Amino acid sequence: MRADLHLHSTASDGLLGPAELMRACRDAGMELVALTDHDNIAGLPEAQAAAAGIEFIGGVELTVQETLEEEVHLLGYGLRPQDEELTDFLLGMQEDRRNRAKSILDKLHAMGFPLRYQDVEKLAGHVISRSHIALAMVRGGMAGTVSEAFDEYLSPGKPAYAPRTHLRIEKAMALLHRAGGVAVLAHPGRLGLQDMELRQKIQDWRQQGLDGVEVYHPSHTDGQMRWLRQIAQVEHMLMTGGSDYHAKEMRHATIGQMLPRWGAEAASDIRALRVAMAERAEQAQRGNASAFSGEE
Ligand code: AMP
Ligand code: MN
Ligand code: MN
Ligand code: MN
Repeated sequence: MRADLHLHSTASDGLLGPAELMRACRDAGMELVALTDHDNIAGLPEAQAAAAGIEFIGGVELTVQETLEEEVHLLGYGLRPQDEELTDFLLGMQEDRRNRAKSILDKLHAMGFPLRYQDVEKLAGHVISRSHIALAMVRGGMAGTVSEAFDEYLSPGKPAYAPRTHLRIEKAMALLHRAGGVAVLAHPGRLGLQDMELRQKIQDWRQQGLDGVEVYHPSHTDGQMRWLRQIAQVEHMLMTGGSDYHAKEMRHATIGQMLPRWGAEAASDIRALRVAMAERAEQAQRGNASAFSGEE
């Protein structure tokens, strides 16, 4: 099965619109895709409509700030696109992102970089990310590449980094579940943990409701993918994969990039994902139904 379950559009920091992205996925021969924009589900209806012929999963990538320096990304799959609680929550996160972008720009101004908030906001739309600030720096001749802007200024520990409001992972997972989705830990290899620490974290989060791990991601080594698969199997968790495509100027990745790695196992991993999404959707439905009857 040719699947890519981690893709970004202009609804966050990708450079293709949702419909355009779906056309690119079709050109790349994808059979199953998920749109997973950062902290935004507003791109889902357009992508779903344009996905005709490709199986489509509505997703999101939530940014969880566990501690000031530690960011965890959580993928949600199979969400109700119009879920009110999730939509409202994401509007709050988008506001938080605007405030954070202003703090980052203040720091950059103090360093002598003349970036205007309005210009970054125009480039970004509703979800402003550090990627947009990096891109504005590149386009303004203040950095050579997006990666360079991160390495020198925007990554944690660098002079223009600013953290965001705390969001605990339990809360983020519960929110995804109430919206009918499954919760999958994005690119666990990026957490920078030793093997045993990573296993412990995943086990702890599993206890708190984590449904799966993204095993196949461009940032993972073959060894990390084997280790993550082993952890997920022992813990009876879902396993997913995707390219984290954002378009060329942003992060280097191509649609379907993980296909050579996510080979023989993909079909059964995806079957398990479909079953889990159906279960979560049913639970969310029942949760709503009982909340509703409780009011009567
Ligand atoms: P934010 O959501 O504002 O914290 O920005 C994070 C986004 O910046 C990620 O989703 C990536 O797309 C991008 N990013 C983070 N680190 C790097 C890096 N070192 N090089 C290029 N892009 C990065
Ligand atoms: Mn991104
Ligand atoms: Mn991520
Ligand atoms: Mn991503």
